[in-house]
Amino acid sequence: MISDTLDKKVGSISVFEHVAEYEHEQVVYCYDKTTGLKAIIAVHNTVLGPAMGGTRMWDYATEEEAAIDVLRLSRGMTFKSAIAGLNIGGGKAVIIGDARKIKNEALMRRFGKFIDSLGGRYVTAEDVNMTTQDMEYIRMETSHVAGIPENLGGSGDPSPVTAYGVYVGMKAANKKVTGSDDLKGRRILVQGVGNVGTNLISYLTKEGAEIFVSDIFEDKLEKVTSAYKVSVVPSSEVFEFDMDIYAPCALGGTLNDDSISKLKCSIVAGGANNQLLDEVRHGNMLIDRGITYAPDFLINGGGIINVGCEYLGNYNREVVMGKTEHIYNTCLSVLDKSEEDGITPQEAAMKIAIDRINAIGGIKLSF
Ligand code: NAD
Repeated sequence: MISDTLDKKVGSISVFEHVAEYEHEQVVYCYDKTTGLKAIIAVHNTVLGPAMGGTRMWDYATEEEAAIDVLRLSRGMTFKSAIAGLNIGGGKAVIIGDARKIKNEALMRRFGKFIDSLGGRYVTAEDVNMTTQDMEYIRMETSHVAGIPENLGGSGDPSPVTAYGVYVGMKAANKKVTGSDDLKGRRILVQGVGNVGTNLISYLTKEGAEIFVSDIFEDKLEKVTSAYKVSVVPSSEVFEFDMDIYAPCALGGTLNDDSISKLKCSIVAGGANNQLLDEVRHGNMLIDRGITYAPDFLINGGGIINVGCEYLGNYNREVVMGKTEHIYNTCLSVLDKSEEDGITPQEAAMKIAIDRINAIGGIKLSF
C-alpha cells in the first residue's frame, strides 16, 4: 500500500534511506566519461503503468540535492498521473550540469541509451531546460520518449497543454474563493517565465488579468515583456508583492516558512512541481493564512496527459485538451473535499490519487 506521509529525517541520510522514505521501486545512477553525463533516473511506482515523467537538467550544488529533487519529483508524478486518470506510473530523471554549457547531441543520445536499458520501465519527456530537439536526440537511441517534435510524429512541446491545465485550475480556485471563475482584472504574479509561464501568460492576457512577472534571467524577461502587457517584479520582492494570485512556474519549494509568512494573496495556483517544501506543514500554514492552494500535481497535469497520450498511441489533441479541461472540475471537487474533511487541498488530492492506485493495484493482483 502506498502511503501519503513522509517521515521527517534530520541531517544527511543515505540514498537507500531516501528511497525507503519515498517508497521508490528503482533508482538508476547514469555516468558516462566521454560525454560527461551524470544523471539519475527514479522509478517511483509502476502499478498503473510505465513510470513516466520529464527529464530536468539543472546545475545542482550537490549530488544529494539532485537525488532529493528526482526522488521528490518522481513521487509527485505517481500522484499526478493517477489523479489525471492515466494508466501511467510515476518517474522522473535529472541530468546534473549547466544546460547552457554542457548540453549537446552526444550527451542527450548517451542519456537516451541509459533510458533504453530500462526496457520501457521509464519513459521520458521535457522538463526544465529540455526542448523538443533534446527529445529528438533521445528518440535516436530509444523509443521510450514522448514530447518529440510534431514533424516526427510526436505531440511537440507539452507546456502549452500544461499551461492550459494550470489556467483552468486557477479559474476553479478563483471560483471557490470569489464565487466567479472570471480572472479579468485579477492581479496575478507569474514567477518563472519559461515554457509553462509564458503559455500561461497568453491565456491570462486573453482573459484580461493584470499580469506581473518575475524571473532570474534578463533575456527571459525581455522576451515576455516584448510580447505581452506585463509588469516586472524583482525576484527579491515576489513574496511581499500585493497580488490576488501567486502562480509559481519556476522551481519547487517556494512555499516555505519564510515565503508563506509574507505572502499577500488569496490563491496559489501555478505550474511548478513540488511547490510545498513540506507537504503537511506548509499546506496547513497556507490554510492558517487563509490562502487557497490549488495542488500543483493536479493542475499541472496537462503535460503528462499530453505526453502520456502520445506514448500510449492514437494521439488526438482534442481528446487531450478535453481531459486537461477536466482539471477544472477535479480542482473544485478537491477544494470542496478539503473544506468538508478539514484536510489540506494537497492531502485531499493525494487521497484521490492513492485510492485509485490502490484500487487498480488490487485488481491487478487478481490474475
Ligand atoms: P523552463 O525551464 O522553460 O522555465 C523555468 C523558468 O523559471 C525559467 O525562465 C527560469 O529562468 C525561471 N526560474 C528559475 N529559477 C527561478 C527563480 N528562483 N525565480 C524566478 N524564476 C526562476 O521550465 P518549464 O517547462 O516552464 O517548467 C516550469 C515548472 O513547471 C517546473 O517546475 C516544471 O517541473 C513544471 N512543469 C512543467 C511541465 C511542462 O510541460 N513543461 C509540466 C508540468 C510541470
